[in-house]
Amino acid sequence: MIAVKGESDALSGKIPKVDDELLEEARAAAARQTREYAPGERDNLVGRIKRLLDRENAVLVAHYYTAPELQELAEETGGYVADSLEMARFGSEHPARTLVVAGVRFMGETAKILNPEKRILMPDEAATCSLDLECPVDLFSDYCDAHPDHTVVVYANTSAAVKARADWVVTSGIALPIVEYLAGRNEKILWAPDKHLGSYVQRATGVRMLIWPGSCVVHENFKADGIRKLMKKHPDAKLLVHPESPEEVVKMADVVGSTTALIKAGVTLAAQKFIVATEPGIFYKMKQAAPGKIFLEAPTGGDLATCESCLRCPWMGMNGLRNLAETLETGANEITVDETIRQKASIPLRRMMDFAEERGIAMKNRGNA
Ligand code: 13P
Ligand code: SF4
Repeated sequence: MIAVKGESDALSGKIPKVDDELLEEARAAAARQTREYAPGERDNLVGRIKRLLDRENAVLVAHYYTAPELQELAEETGGYVADSLEMARFGSEHPARTLVVAGVRFMGETAKILNPEKRILMPDEAATCSLDLECPVDLFSDYCDAHPDHTVVVYANTSAAVKARADWVVTSGIALPIVEYLAGRNEKILWAPDKHLGSYVQRATGVRMLIWPGSCVVHENFKADGIRKLMKKHPDAKLLVHPESPEEVVKMADVVGSTTALIKAGVTLAAQKFIVATEPGIFYKMKQAAPGKIFLEAPTGGDLATCESCLRCPWMGMNGLRNLAETLETGANEITVDETIRQKASIPLRRMMDFAEERGIAMKNRGNA
């Protein structure tokens, strides 16, 4: 799967591991946000957040994986619910002076990179992503330096510093055409950090790449065996899979695509039932976009067992009404990016956005793959 096996094994031994302790810490922070509300607390928080959004000239932009109550609030208050790139685009186009990003840190950083004049707040700036953690900039830079003849393509789920070292940034929605375009120019490609997405892109395009061995702690958990059993129980269901999932799961899918593409598939496919291999926060939008259809969680165990905490992104779960109100009240958790890094990182990000626009690859929240 990975072009230079020995190199990749050596890297695997060096990259920081996301261990159980780190995951437990994130889950504990998430549990503080989702603990039961006292009578009236939820309504008070919602009212307070609405007043604060107004007072602070702020707009709420939430990712599809955040809690339904945050997605609902973003929609109700004139904000936006979207994938990572569209969150940033919306933020650039909206006149609000403050963007409140409910998601994970790289999303807040991307918003800052594209909108340096705006204040970017996050409910919890410690909300990170395993792909970001497993791609520290120093190690990554050394790897790039060791392959100077390669064009460096990084997934959006990376730090600003890693983006600053890249030639291109891609999201799962635009990775295939960009890699095909680069291969058409005979460019050799170094891909980071998601090995499963990289392997999917490699299979779909036939383009060999050097692939960084990072992975998503959520999508990594989906099990082909369990999914096969669930498909037998529901033979009328179509399987929707995010390409951060393991190869054997991706190969079984009826549709493989970005979060936006999976929501669109739920609407456009004639099927009434879907097994969904991605973070279940997406069900809020899927059900809203295709009311009446049935969406089932893909199992994370071989015997149809699904462990809720394996399915949930622990860092997305760190966003809640409580810390959202707090950050708006106090201005805590403002996202900053070193200006030199920001300027460098904006180049590959803008390159991706210009490419999308030139090719008419709509990345608006319309469900493109
Ligand atoms: P999107 O780019 O589709 O928003 O996905 C981000 C992500 O973290 C998937 O796990
Ligand atoms: Fe990162 Fe996976 Fe969470 Fe997405 S679901 S933010 S890739 S850890």
